[in-house]
Amino acid sequence: MFEISFIPAFKDNYIWLLTRGKRAFVVDPGDAAPVIDRLVADDLRLEGILVTHHHADHQGGIAALAARWHPVVYAPGNESITGCTHPLSGGESIDVLGQAVDVIAVSGHTRSHLAYVAPGLVFCGDTLFGAGCGRLFEGTPAQMTASLDRLAALPDETRVYCAHEYTAMNLPFALAVEPDNAAIRERMAKVSALRAAGLPTVPLHLGEEKATNPFLRCTEPAVVAAGLQHAAVNREKVEIFAAIRRWRNDF
Ligand code: ZN
Ligand code: FE
Repeated sequence: MFEISFIPAFKDNYIWLLTRGKRAFVVDPGDAAPVIDRLVADDLRLEGILVTHHHADHQGGIAALAARWHPVVYAPGNESITGCTHPLSGGESIDVLGQAVDVIAVSGHTRSHLAYVAPGLVFCGDTLFGAGCGRLFEGTPAQMTASLDRLAALPDETRVYCAHEYTAMNLPFALAVEPDNAAIRERMAKVSALRAAGLPTVPLHLGEEKATNPFLRCTEPAVVAAGLQHAAVNREKVEIFAAIRRWRNDF
């Protein structure tokens, strides 16, 4: 298995760096400069790039990296991605530094968003965040709910490598949805301590997300009640999700 570390980019992006010896892949290189600095400093050879979706903060660095290292570029085939060499749609298995990685379709944030799954971990881009989920820019609530279900079906011990440090920002909303959820308060204290120490809250722990992330809890009575108070027209999971997601946009 490869080793994983992160390269910070922009205000709150994580570009995940996968290495095996001197061989490297990166996930969602929105900016080339910090990636080049790291690859050069560590004398790494960039063999591949995994892209989750087309937004600029996830693919803006591909051209400069490709010009220098000529990596394979795995990306959603239905989205406009610079330099894509291997278009994917979900359901494939790809080789990443000798490790088989499963590609799953998680549309919602964008229409063909992908996640990359290896034993015990997932790179999910802007689909699932700490205590939150991506905005619905192109997909429907039904698509996003199905995508989150697909991620939630992974084992609880799964480490979730999302693309933004949003956990501290999202937790007050999670608490507004479920004021009586003690696990959210505990997590707030833990996350505050991590952030005060300058440490990331990612990778997330999937089991902890299931206990504290309102978007994975749309059948919990408290979340259903909150959804109904925020314009859900019935208690169907997709309707509750849609209501909570709309509420989050204005929170
Ligand atoms: Zn995005
Ligand atoms: Fe993003």
